Amino acid sequence: MITKLIRINPENINPEDLKEAAEIIKSGGLAAMPTETVYGLGGNALDAEAAGKIYAAKGRPSDNPLIIHVCSYEQIFEYTRDVPEYAKKLIKAFMPGPFTIILKKADIIPDTVTAGLDSVAVRFPSHPVAQELIRLSGVPIAAPSANLSGKPSPTTAEHVIDDMMDKIDCIIDGGSCEVGVESTIVDATGESPEILRPGGVTLEMLREVCSDTEVDRNVLSLTTPNEKPKCPGTKYKHYAPDAEVTVVEGSRDSVRTKIKELIAANRGKIIGVLTMYESAYDDAVIISTSSTNKGYARDLFGALREFDKLGCELVFAEFCENDGVGLAVKNRLYKSAGGRVLHTD
Ligand code: AMP
Ligand code: MG
Repeated sequence: MITKLIRINPENINPEDLKEAAEIIKSGGLAAMPTETVYGLGGNALDAEAAGKIYAAKGRPSDNPLIIHVCSYEQIFEYTRDVPEYAKKLIKAFMPGPFTIILKKADIIPDTVTAGLDSVAVRFPSHPVAQELIRLSGVPIAAPSANLSGKPSPTTAEHVIDDMMDKIDCIIDGGSCEVGVESTIVDATGESPEILRPGGVTLEMLREVCSDTEVDRNVLSLTTPNEKPKCPGTKYKHYAPDAEVTVVEGSRDSVRTKIKELIAANRGKIIGVLTMYESAYDDAVIISTSSTNKGYARDLFGALREFDKLGCELVFAEFCENDGVGLAVKNRLYKSAGGRVLHTD
C-alpha cells in the first residue's frame, strides 16, 4: 500500500486539504491524525471492518478496545447511554481536551471497537485538525495511538512514518503534539469517577470537579498475568523502546548519584540517560527534557525513540516530581521500564 502524506498547518486549516483523508475514513480506510495528546490511527468507528484494519496495522491484540473520537457534545450522548450526572459535569469541564470518558455503549458501536465490552471510551479532542477531520468524515473516528503495538506513542508525523509507512492509507502531518502523553482515561460506569490512565487532565483537576475521584491501583503497578485489568490495555507491555529502560526515582541528588554508579557498573554498554535537570553524566548519551512535568510529558516518547536511533542498549531515566502531570509521566516511565524501578531514598 502507498501511504499518502498530507501536510496541514493547524493554525490555518484549508478544509479542502483534509477532504481526501475524510473520504478515506468514510470508505473504510485508515488515516493517521495529529491530536493534542499523541498521533492517532483513525478509522470509521461504526465500521467493524475498519476497526479490524486498525488492530492489524498496529499489531494490537484484539482484546484491547479502541477510543472513539467525536467532534460535538451531541455525539457523546449519541454513542453512549445512561450517562451519570457526575459524568456530565466532567464532560462539561474537560471536553474538548486530553480526556477520555468510559460510559455504557450504544448498540450502534460495533463489538470489535470495544473488544466485546458493554462500555465505550469516548474522547472529544481539542486539536483543530482532528476536529475538522471528524466533522468532514461525518462519523466518529476510532483511534488508538498510531504506533506499532508496544512501542512509544508517536508525537510527531515522523514517528508515525517510522511505524506505519506502507501500512495505512494516509498520514496527516500537523506538527508536534502539545501534551505528548495519551489522554486521561476516567471510568464513569460506576458510582464515582476512577482514573484508569493518568494524562494531561490531572487528578488534582478532576478532584476540583468531582472530589471523590480515585486512581485505579493498576496505574502504577504492572498487572500480574492472571488478573483481569479494568483497562484492558494496561496488561500489555507498553511504551517500550528497544533499549532496556530503568527508572531511577527519588530526590534530585540521590538520583544523580545512583545513575553515576549504574553507568560505572555497566561500562562497555551504550548507555542513555534521560534527565529533567540537564544533569551532566560522563560516558553516556544524554537527552534532556524540559524541566517541568508538563515538558517531561511532552518530550518523553520522542526521547525514548531517539535513544533507539542512537543505538543505546540501556537507558536510565530520572524521575523526581510526582505532582500534576508527573503522575502520567511516572505511569508511562514505569510501563516502558517493564517495572524496573529503583527507589533511591
Ligand atoms: P490507546 O488507544 O492505545 O491510547 O489505548 C486506549 C486505552 O483505552 C486502552 O488502554 C484501552 O484498554 C482503554 N479502553 C478503551 N475502551 C475501554 C473500555 N470500554 N473500558 C476500559 N478501557 C478502555
Ligand atoms: Mg497506545
